[in-house]
Amino acid sequence: MDFESFFREELDGLRREGRYRVFADLERQAGRFPLATYHGLGGPRDVTVWCSNDYLGMGQHPKVLAAMHDALDGSGAGAGGTRNIGGTNHYHVLLERELADLHGKEAALIFNSGYVSNWASLSTLAARIPGCIVLTDGLNHASMIEGIRHSRAEKHIFAHNDPADLRRKLAALDPNRPKLIAFESVYSMDGDIAPVREFCDIAEEFGAMTYIDEVHAVGLYGARGGGISEREGLTDRLTLIQGTLAKSYGVIGGYITGSAALCDFIRSFASGFIFSSSLPPAVAAGAIAAIRHLKDSSAERERQQDRVAALRAKLDAAGIPHLANPSHIVPVMVGDAQACKAISDELLDRFDIYVQPINYPTVPRGTERLRITPSPFHSDADIDALVAALGAIWARDGLKRAA
Ligand code: PLP
Repeated sequence: MDFESFFREELDGLRREGRYRVFADLERQAGRFPLATYHGLGGPRDVTVWCSNDYLGMGQHPKVLAAMHDALDGSGAGAGGTRNIGGTNHYHVLLERELADLHGKEAALIFNSGYVSNWASLSTLAARIPGCIVLTDGLNHASMIEGIRHSRAEKHIFAHNDPADLRRKLAALDPNRPKLIAFESVYSMDGDIAPVREFCDIAEEFGAMTYIDEVHAVGLYGARGGGISEREGLTDRLTLIQGTLAKSYGVIGGYITGSAALCDFIRSFASGFIFSSSLPPAVAAGAIAAIRHLKDSSAERERQQDRVAALRAKLDAAGIPHLANPSHIVPVMVGDAQACKAISDELLDRFDIYVQPINYPTVPRGTERLRITPSPFHSDADIDALVAALGAIWARDGLKRAA
């Protein structure tokens, strides 16, 4: 086989569809977020980033940076291997305590990313619980899908955020088999929020365990940043709460929280935990600082919500179509892969605004969009500049307006 030709042809196919991914060469600037330096063809220049998942700007927070500097100088660069072999250190232990406390659970277990935490935990649970059947929301994240697939457990997909469909599917299954219901709280592409209480009610009715991914909610919702489960007072009804340290907490890493036995079970059986080197101490220290800060401070959350509302109001006034939802995610709908990419390119080249286009397979074809995530650091002037740029493109290209 001519491997090189094969690779090139596959990539050309993506280009023809307008969904070949180009990663802008951006250099973040601590203290100036959401500004970043874009290293483009014409040389470096400042751009305003509108699609970062560093939702609250904690990646530049002085407390986080100070904690990371201290740990780096005190403990060095790496963790020294897997947790089994010399790679557990005190910062890991402190971080797991902080996370267990955040979610009101007995224990926590950290992983190298949110992706790995979902993949490893779901695959281990579903594979090792004898006869386990997994019920999974139709729009769950790739990391959950892959974990469930890897387990080879029987799986049923219920309609997205639909308790009635979940109930119907559970009722049709053998009542004697153990069941696991997997869903997210805030869905990252549409920004809608799961009916977590109804899911808990149904899980209890059928004796199923619940697995919630709060990746896009931790730090952002709940009085201490414990996510939708905290905000709704449901933490003790969820068997396992999963999250990331890479979005609102501004660093990197993923985790699960639950009972001591559950976390110990995953720790002891999950290949994705056992056989991968652990997070650097400085990363764990930064995460601890971010979590602690957001447990005590709601200022960042409030300011972010204010920015989200301000952006939505201005998009409405300009007739730019965006999905209505109850979260911090503002999807501006384009509905065509080529157009979405062209708008993103023009925003960057002409207006110094960076918003990555979101295309298939991240979202269904025909629902291509710009996924905009206002942060506490986006000013009124930033919002005006973004809406003016979108308005100019929409007017020139005669794009579909909101009703
Ligand atoms: N779960 C959801 C719902 C996500 O959107 C993502 C990533 O965006 C992940 C898990 C993976 O988390 P991480 O980026 O920490 O690997």
